Amino acid sequence: MLSVSDARARILANFAPVETIPLSIACLAGRVLAGDITAKTDFPIFNNSSVDGFALQISDIAGADHASPRTLIVTADIRAGSYAGTPILSGRCARIMTGSPRAPRADAVVMVEDTDFNERFAGSSAPQKVAVYKPLQPGENVRRRGDDLHAGDKVLFSGTRLHAQEVGLLAMLGLPEVPVYRSPKVALLSSGDELLPVEAPLTPGKIHDANSYILAALLESVGMQLIRLGVASDTEADVRSRLDRAVVEKADVIISSAGVSVGAFDYVRSAVESDGELYFWKVNMRPGKPLAFGKYHGIPFFGLPGNPVSAFVSFEVFVRPALEQLSGQTLHPHPSQKARLAGPVESDGRESYLRAIVTEEQGQLTARLTGHQGSGNILSLVQANALLIVPSGVKSLPANTEAEIWRIE
Ligand code: AMP
Ligand code: MG
Repeated sequence: MLSVSDARARILANFAPVETIPLSIACLAGRVLAGDITAKTDFPIFNNSSVDGFALQISDIAGADHASPRTLIVTADIRAGSYAGTPILSGRCARIMTGSPRAPRADAVVMVEDTDFNERFAGSSAPQKVAVYKPLQPGENVRRRGDDLHAGDKVLFSGTRLHAQEVGLLAMLGLPEVPVYRSPKVALLSSGDELLPVEAPLTPGKIHDANSYILAALLESVGMQLIRLGVASDTEADVRSRLDRAVVEKADVIISSAGVSVGAFDYVRSAVESDGELYFWKVNMRPGKPLAFGKYHGIPFFGLPGNPVSAFVSFEVFVRPALEQLSGQTLHPHPSQKARLAGPVESDGRESYLRAIVTEEQGQLTARLTGHQGSGNILSLVQANALLIVPSGVKSLPANTEAEIWRIE
C-alpha cells in the first residue's frame, strides 16, 4: 500500500500556484503576497522624538539634577505632523511631541517627566521657560532615520500569508495595493444517507453531518473560498450532480468526505473513476486509510474518509500542504517536536497519527493519549493538543521512549 510520504509527493505534484491579482491594502488580511517587497525609503523617514518632552542641546544640561536644574528658554512648539525647520541654539529648547521631527541642532530630547513642566494635558500651551533635572546622552530619546529599515531592504517575501503586522508594514511603506494570489475555490461535499443537517432533529439511524463544518473551518483557516456542495445521498445521480456543480463553478479543488471505501454505496469513488482519474484510494496510515486522490473533469479531487477524526487527520497530513502550494504560500510543514511517552503506545504497523495531550513536565515534553483512539471519537480530538506519530512498521512504543509530535490548535 502507498506510504504517507509517497502519497503526499504524488498529491503535491498536482498543485501549482493560482494566478495573481493586484489587491487593495484594505482587503489584504489572510491573503498571500505574490512578489517580494522592497522598502523605497528609510524608516523612520526622519529623526523624531520617542517621548513627549523638550528637544535641546545636551551640552546645556550637563550635570543637571533636582538640586541644580538647568533652565532653558522654550522657543518653539513642535506638534506631531509639523515640520521643525528652526535650529535649536544653545540655552534654548523646543517643546516636542512623540513622533515629531527632531529640530535641527537639537541632539537629544528630555522627557517631560524630567522637567518642572507640569501642564501635561491636552491643549496646554508651551511654557516660556523650563527647568531640566537630568543630563542626557547624545541621541537620547531620538528615533533616528533608518533605525528600523533602510531603503533597498527586502522586507517581505513572496508566499507570505499576510497578517495584521505585515499589513501594517505595507501601510507604513505607503503601498495602497500589492500583488497577491487569488483565493482558491474549494468545493466541499459530504456524502451518506445517514447524514442530516445539524438543524434537523435526529431520526433512527441518522447522525448529524459533522465533516462539512470541520472541513469548512479548516479551509477557512488556510484562506480558501468555499463552494458548499451540501450532503449527497448514496445514489450515483446525486453524487454526480453535486460534483458537476463544482465543475460549473470552476472550483480549483474538490474535497469530499466518505463514500470512498469498499461499501456497497460508495458512489463518490465510482463517479471519479468514470468521469476523471483516480490515482489512488488507499494510504498506509491510521486513521485515514481510505484516502482517495484523483481528478474529476480535470479538477484535483480529495476523497477523505468519512469518520470525522480521520477526515481531520487526512486534511492535516495531505490537504493542508496541497492548499498551501495551490495558494502560493511557502510550505509550512508542521513544526515537529519530540516528546517522552508517559505510557506505552500500541499501533498496527501503519503510520499512525494518534491524539495526544502534550504537557511540559520537569522541563521535558510528555505525551499522553487522549482516550480511546476510535476514528469516530471526536471528543478525543477536542481534548488533544497534538498528534503523536508512530512510524510505519512500528507496532509498539514503550513508556519513556521519545516520539514525534505535531502540535494542533
Ligand atoms: P463511509 O466512508 O461512508 O463508510 O463512512 C465512514 C463513517 O463515517 C461512517 O460511520 C459514517 O457514518 C461516518 N461519516 C461519514 N460522513 C460523515 C459526516 N459528514 N459527518 C459525520 N460522520 C460521517
Ligand atoms: Mg457512507
